[in-house]
Amino acid sequence: MPFTELQNELNERAAQGLLRQRRTLDSPQSPHIVVDGEPYLSFCSNDYLGLANHPRLVAALQQGAAQYGVGAGAAHLVSGHSVAHHQLEQALAAFVDKPAALLFSTGYMANLGAVQALAGKGDTVFADKLNHASLNDAMLLSRAEVKRYRHSDMAQLAQLLEQTRSGCKLIVTDAVFSMDGDLAPLPELLALCEQYDAWLLVDDAHGFGVLGGQGGGSLAYCGIASPRIIYMATLGKAAGVFGAFVAAEQVVIDTLVNHARSYVYTTATPPALASAVLESLELIGQGDALREHLRELIAQLRNGLAGLPWKLMPSDTAIQPLLVGDNRAVLALSEGLRERGVWVAAIRPPTVPQGTARLRITLSAAHSAKDVTCLLEALHELAR
Ligand SMILES: *Cc1c(COP(=O)(O)O)cnc(C)c1O
Repeated sequence: MPFTELQNELNERAAQGLLRQRRTLDSPQSPHIVVDGEPYLSFCSNDYLGLANHPRLVAALQQGAAQYGVGAGAAHLVSGHSVAHHQLEQALAAFVDKPAALLFSTGYMANLGAVQALAGKGDTVFADKLNHASLNDAMLLSRAEVKRYRHSDMAQLAQLLEQTRSGCKLIVTDAVFSMDGDLAPLPELLALCEQYDAWLLVDDAHGFGVLGGQGGGSLAYCGIASPRIIYMATLGKAAGVFGAFVAAEQVVIDTLVNHARSYVYTTATPPALASAVLESLELIGQGDALREHLRELIAQLRNGLAGLPWKLMPSDTAIQPLLVGDNRAVLALSEGLRERGVWVAAIRPPTVPQGTARLRITLSAAHSAKDVTCLLEALHELAR
C-alpha cells in the first residue's frame, strides 16, 4: 500500500524534529487563550492590534450577515460582487493612498494572482531569498524566469537587473519579513525599479495597520509612493478579520480583474467580512495609541532579552525572533515555555533556512507590560 510510504516520510520528519501538528483553541484569539482546555499566555498570533475579537468588529460582522446573508454565492465576475465588497475596495484604496484596490480571498491567493497576471513567459521576477512562501509559489506558477537575491542585498539585485535585457521585470518582496521581523530596504528597491524600469510588488502582510501614521503601512512608514508599486496587504493579521487586497493604478487593477486566476476562478468572500473590515479600518486609523503601546512592549521585550544565550535578531517590529539554531533545541525551548503556561511558536525549516530554527515571538497591542514580564521570566528561568 502506498500509505506505508506516506507514513515512513512522516516518521522521518518526526525523527528530525520537523513534524508539524496543530493545537486547538477553545477561546477567541487573544493574548490569553485556552488551548486544548488549558489557559496560556500567547505570543504567537499576528493579531497585532488585538482586533480579532473586538466587540465592534463582532457587531459589524453580525450586522453584515443580517444585511447580506452568509455566502457570496458566486465569483466576483459572476454575481458575487456585493456593494459591501465595493465600498471596502474604495476605502482600502483611499487608506493606502492608491487609485484603486481589489479584494482577494487570502494573501496567498493575492500573491499568486498578482504575480501570475503581471509576469509570464519571457519576463523576469526578482525575489528576496527570505520572501514568504506565497510569493515563492507565485513566481513558480507564473512561468516567468526567477532570479533570487540574497536577503536585502541591493548590489546583487542591481547586478541581476543589469543582466536582464528583455521582457518585463517584477521585483517582489516582503515589506516586513515574516520570520525575521526586519524591513526590506523599500526606498532602495524603488530607486532600482526606476533605474531599470521594473515593477515593485510589496507584500505588507505584517506592516499594514502596524507601521506608519494611522497604520497606513510600510510605504507610509518609509515615506515612499510610486505608480510602479503594487501594494498587497492581508486583512487577517493586524486588521483582525480575513482576506487580502492589492492596491495599485487603475490599469493594474483592471488587469488583475481580467487575468488573476485566483481572483477570477473563486467564490467571493462573504460580504459580511467586508462590513467587518470596514469597521476595522476605522479602528486602525484611530489606533495610534495602540501602536505606541506596541512600540513600548517591543522595547521592553528587547531590553529584557539581552543577555540570554539565544541570539535576538535585529528587528524593530512586532515580530521578535529568538534564534536557537537546532530544531530539537527550539522544540525543547518551546515545550519548556508551554509547561510554564506561555505559548510561543517554534519555527523550523523549511519555513526558515536550515540551522536557523527560532522562537518567533509576536507582540500585540493587546498584551500588557506584565504579560511581557511573564514571558521574560520564563525565558530567563529556562536559560539557567
Ligand atoms: C500571512 C502572509 C501571507 C498570506 O496571507 P493570508 O491572508 O494568510 O493568506 C502572505 N505574505 C506574507 C508575508 C504573510 O506573512
